[in-house]
Amino acid sequence: MNQFKTDGIIIRSVPYGESDLILTILTPDMGKIPAIAKGARRSKKRFPGGLNILYHGSMQLAPGKKSDNLYRLDGFDVAGTFSEIQGGYHKVTVASFMLELTEALTVEGESCRESYRLLLEALTAVEDCADLSKTLIMFQLRSLELAGYCPDIASCRLCGRKLEPSRSFVFSVDRGCLYCQGCRSGEGMWLPISTGALMSLLWIIKNGPQDFSKLKLSDQAGKEARYLLDSMIRRILGRELKTFKFLPDR
Ligand SMILES: [Zn+2]
Repeated sequence: MNQFKTDGIIIRSVPYGESDLILTILTPDMGKIPAIAKGARRSKKRFPGGLNILYHGSMQLAPGKKSDNLYRLDGFDVAGTFSEIQGGYHKVTVASFMLELTEALTVEGESCRESYRLLLEALTAVEDCADLSKTLIMFQLRSLELAGYCPDIASCRLCGRKLEPSRSFVFSVDRGCLYCQGCRSGEGMWLPISTGALMSLLWIIKNGPQDFSKLKLSDQAGKEARYLLDSMIRRILGRELKTFKFLPDR
């Protein structure tokens, strides 16, 4: 394969040697890929627009040596940098968490067009100072959905009763689904959760991110929804994301 062009966003950057950077780049068609930017820390000639995380645009890449599995980044036309995110601590922590979660849930070499679009849309919402907690809930839920782990919360898994305000439900983090209190059985992590929080999550699943600004979410429902999603992510990945502890509470 010769040199090729792709859209990409830098989701991780680590200094390497005296003057290079090792990048993780999320691309729509190739998933996340590792790439080396030679000389990027010494000279700005090849990358005049810079090479920081969150920078996105059109990239010229070439396959590197077979032994190290790294692509070589030869050029980068920067389309956007999300510079406004750098201006606020909470914005930075939420954006960093989004990058880490995307990296954890996407696969090298596999197309991820929807995850790519979701990340750019969510970062734009963070930059525009939208409600950070709501943006985070939408992003976590959609990320789980795209990775095949959408929580099943429309009805009780055992008896099939629909979610409605007069009943009380518990969520099984291990199974990723909902049970009425009476149908709950077995071990594992169970979360009592209000129907208000469940209805909000279900609303996002049904309506998608385009109608997201219409979602009404109380502080309490937001907290519960976040707790459910955080617990699911921890369970699926089998670990805590490093950036999780820096996230704003609400
Ligand atoms: Zn039931």
